Amino acid sequence: MPFLSDTLSRIKPSATIAVTNMAAEMKAAGKDVIGLGAGEPDFDTPQHIKDAAKAAIDGGKTKYTAVDGIPELKKAICAKFARENGLTYAPNQVSVGTGGKQILYNALVCTLNPGDEVIIPAPYWVSYPDMVLLAGGTPVTVPCGIESHFKLTPEKLDAAITPNTKWLIFNSPSNPTGAGYTRTELKALTDVLMKHPHVWIMSDDMYEHLVFDDFEFVTPAQVEPGLYDRTLTCNGVSKAYAMTGWRIGYAAGPVALIKAMATIQSQSTSNPNTIAQWAAVEALNGPQDFLVEFRAAFQRRRNLVVEMLNAAPGITCPKPEGAFYVYPDISGCLGKTSGGGTAITDDESFAKALLEETGVAVVFGSAFGISPNFRVSYATSDAALTEACTRIQTFCRSLT
Ligand code: PLP
Repeated sequence: MPFLSDTLSRIKPSATIAVTNMAAEMKAAGKDVIGLGAGEPDFDTPQHIKDAAKAAIDGGKTKYTAVDGIPELKKAICAKFARENGLTYAPNQVSVGTGGKQILYNALVCTLNPGDEVIIPAPYWVSYPDMVLLAGGTPVTVPCGIESHFKLTPEKLDAAITPNTKWLIFNSPSNPTGAGYTRTELKALTDVLMKHPHVWIMSDDMYEHLVFDDFEFVTPAQVEPGLYDRTLTCNGVSKAYAMTGWRIGYAAGPVALIKAMATIQSQSTSNPNTIAQWAAVEALNGPQDFLVEFRAAFQRRRNLVVEMLNAAPGITCPKPEGAFYVYPDISGCLGKTSGGGTAITDDESFAKALLEETGVAVVFGSAFGISPNFRVSYATSDAALTEACTRIQTFCRSLT
């Protein structure tokens, strides 16, 4: 009898974590590596948030809490949804977990039965399909290429819905493309969902605060109040507040779903870290002015990277609305050979040769479901980005 489960054989380790680890290993071995793989801001957590965590420790707030979050944090989350999204939720409609990842996972585990389908527009965040598989459902990926700016269209959504569809996972701004849906684009999608009352919407708003050029962030339940009763609005403090390591994510939705998510959490991890919950209270209730600075830095870096990558022969890099990623197309590089002698047959061979020959670590597009592309995370210094993009330009010029 095999020791490992069939469930495990259906999934694969995260490609983004693999690239980050590989770059770290090469660096540790003394190689000159620039890692553009990691999905986290390079900024430090703001001081007032750290201070709140220290105060929690000193105040003895170090014990178990309610499974899905302390009342103070739930209250802060309700206030955030009202203030920033025009959404009214009561504390019993809110769930707090160990990162956005656990929140999404809990929701899938407590709703999916074998045969249930989950629509995932591609390119997608690497974890969505594998989480659906782990939860026993069937991921239905819908390719959304560069021609539609990597966005799902109403026609494609309508065509993907079957009687077995349980969820649409919606992510704007997107990891890995940075694409953000305008109110008009999102309304066109919610109009389709209004015609299919059996489909629920899991909106992953993790990059809400990282939008540029006056782009207006909107979320499905806000754009179409008729979807409120079948929407789980997910968010977290990881990206906007530079708190990836603190592990706090949250969601709001119908009471029955929130209760079911708490049941899963009660038998797996229990409450998210108590100290981190108090830090998240401060993140949401405290001053938000540093977000302006974060956004300005990311916008400057996005412009730098888009311009430099478009100057590399064979690369086309769309300019996204948000997050801290770009997702350039490398069709013009395929069929060529690198200076080091590697045949560039797909985005994986491109990324591998780029890392080996120039020390620049990016994640190949096939990990995100649309090829031939690669993902650049530009959450690093302007100097490192300039150097990395110069190396990418040189690499592309060397292709013959
Ligand atoms: N959703 C998206 C789109 C992400 O990119 C990430 C992190 O990379 C998450 C959710 C998970 O965030 P957390 O670190 O809070 O688990």
